[in-house]
Amino acid sequence: MPVILRVAVPVPLPELFDYLPPADVTIADIALGARLRVPFGARELIGVVVEHAEVAASPKLRAAISLFDPAPVFPEPLWRSLLWAARYYAYPLGEALASALPAPVRERLETAPSHRDLVLRLRPDPDQRAKLRDGSAPAAMYDALLDGPRNWTTLRVQIAQAATAKRRLLQLGLIDTLSLDDAPRRFQTTAPELNPGQANAVAQIIATLGGFTTTLLEGITGSGKTEVYLAAMQQVLARGEQVLVLVPEIGLTPQTVARFRERLAAPVLTWHSGLADGARGRAFERARSDSPLVVIGTRSAVFAPLPKLGLIIIDEEHDASFKQHEGFRYHARDVALVRAKHGVTAVVLGSATPALESLANVARGRYQHVRLDTRAGHAQPPTVEVIDVRRERLQDGLGAGVLSAIGDVVARGEQALVFRNRRGFAPVLHCIDCGWHSDCERCDRPYTLHRGRARLICHHCSRERPIPKQCPACNSDSLTPVGIGTERLEAALTQRFPQIPVLRLDRDSARSADQFERVLARAHAGEACILVGTQMLAKGHDLHGVTLAVIADADGGLYSADPRASERLAQLVVQVAGRAGRGARRGRVLIQTHHPEHALFRTLLSGGYPAFAHAELRLREALSLPPFSSQVILRAEARERPQIERFLRDAAAMVCHDGVSVAGPLAAPHARRAGYERAQLLLEAVQRRDLHAALEALLPQIYTHPLARKLRWSLDVDPIAVD
Ligand code: ADP
Ligand code: ZN
Ligand code: ZN
Repeated sequence: MPVILRVAVPVPLPELFDYLPPADVTIADIALGARLRVPFGARELIGVVVEHAEVAASPKLRAAISLFDPAPVFPEPLWRSLLWAARYYAYPLGEALASALPAPVRERLETAPSHRDLVLRLRPDPDQRAKLRDGSAPAAMYDALLDGPRNWTTLRVQIAQAATAKRRLLQLGLIDTLSLDDAPRRFQTTAPELNPGQANAVAQIIATLGGFTTTLLEGITGSGKTEVYLAAMQQVLARGEQVLVLVPEIGLTPQTVARFRERLAAPVLTWHSGLADGARGRAFERARSDSPLVVIGTRSAVFAPLPKLGLIIIDEEHDASFKQHEGFRYHARDVALVRAKHGVTAVVLGSATPALESLANVARGRYQHVRLDTRAGHAQPPTVEVIDVRRERLQDGLGAGVLSAIGDVVARGEQALVFRNRRGFAPVLHCIDCGWHSDCERCDRPYTLHRGRARLICHHCSRERPIPKQCPACNSDSLTPVGIGTERLEAALTQRFPQIPVLRLDRDSARSADQFERVLARAHAGEACILVGTQMLAKGHDLHGVTLAVIADADGGLYSADPRASERLAQLVVQVAGRAGRGARRGRVLIQTHHPEHALFRTLLSGGYPAFAHAELRLREALSLPPFSSQVILRAEARERPQIERFLRDAAAMVCHDGVSVAGPLAAPHARRAGYERAQLLLEAVQRRDLHAALEALLPQIYTHPLARKLRWSLDVDPIAVD
């Protein structure tokens, strides 16, 4: 019987496509998982072979054009995880595979090395140095390199005109450039001695190597989880195996990477979605090797090949950035766990504020639980106070008590951090005379006032417009910014503390990795300053000078329609608090709220995150919310509301499976965005398998629905946000 190839092709269709093998190749030589160039309509695409299928009669099929590489592109456990993920997340396999393959690997483009991967090393020559003018850029770079080799990435944000300086020093033969991957052995630093808690954690993790066991490492902020990872990683590398470290999007700072590079005797490759195609392609090829190495990266690094994977570490495992919010909506933690199961690999999930899902898995006996309850070194946990702002007159969002606390801290030469989860100057521009406010026409939500850029900007669709001088409705001059953004806090604090640098860290002030680094480098330098920022500032950073952390407004998550809002708020409070007092001095945390009596604060303050999580899990269980049930959201958007209503109503009618309930069509919490009407269906089941059975029956019917091609729709399995 003739045998054909069933191929996953990167197109938004759920089915596989059949081809004959290329003219000069026998089918037995084509492995499952191999890449193949195939004709598709008038185009040529790179597909991946999923099955060899026997067919009865000689089929009239097109032949594949050529075989890219007879070997499978993914190691077996990853391949099986990808097949699982495409099914589980109800996403076309061809596109799922394409998102796991960087473009150059798909297309076989040339991949030139990038300057970002360079390390500079000095060839000291005092005579030559004497000829460089003191204070010039080349002299500054020469002096900086006296302490040892440095990453170009960090060097170029610290030294003015770094590119010119580098060129000059190269001309003079005063420096060598090394590839980052070859460099680490040359400047290893030594580890601090582990405390008993850390040593115990390392022992527990090492005991799991070689098997599929997941360890939840619940360690308070500053407890030294990274040291635990490093010690466990050294063991894995010594066994000749590889390690995958997943970090949140904003956790992949050069400091973090440098810390790993300085401590491990193996190449450390970085991997994130911002890598240019060439760099990602090179990382992919290097990660296909068998030798001991480490890949550290954000969500998509879960697809790094790593054939000798011996340990997966997911740092800040609760972080929302592990879930992709568009297209292939996978959760990197869950894909990693499946990958570990297929590969029989140990996993460490680390966090000070574990996801409720992970704690529920501990309670079900699925994970080993290891805790670190004290801060490493000599740091003390901070004191936390809730401030009732109903009794205070706030000035630009800050009360008198908070302002004087900031003043005290900077007067002592220490650093204060002010967190506000809103960028821009003010969330609304409002007319006092007629009540007009600045709504985006396409989103029915207010424009945010950005004073620095002198624009109104819609944070939902990015539309911009000039700031009106007079009210567009009544021509009054009384337009007033309402509410507080980071830009306003920055302005107010600068005015109040003119002698003290106020450093803002948000997506406007840190538009590039370099700008981000520059701000962090200043904070690390340790001089008195006030840091103002969003999430970017809240997580992970180990700044020893910060002794005061202020949460300017903790009300957002308290009475939200999103059942996960309180979990996120509790995590945020603990994470922001965790930035304070990591050095020698004890830290202090001030939380401003209109609801100081709220149970969330009471529980967090008296029992910490574990008490909050315990209470919240009981609540979720009583309400049959995840992790005590499973959910899928079917979203649809179109210019016309009747279309999406009809599409979703039809879809709702197609769902009939015991144990599965359907709610909707419901208007999405954000019912209009960028000119599109939005609505959704919520499918729920106590048993995950019921939900998946229903989904599998539903999927082909959705694809063939007459409206499916006329509107935008998507499925979100295990959604983590309702919008
Ligand atoms: P976490 O990730 O748990 O918040 P880190 O790993 O960043 O904590 O460690 C917090 C700080 O404590 C870091 O500055 C780290 O260098 C330091 N540290 C960690 N372990 C030890 C130890 N055993 N002895 C001394 N200092 C330590
Ligand atoms: Zn008006
Ligand atoms: Zn808009």
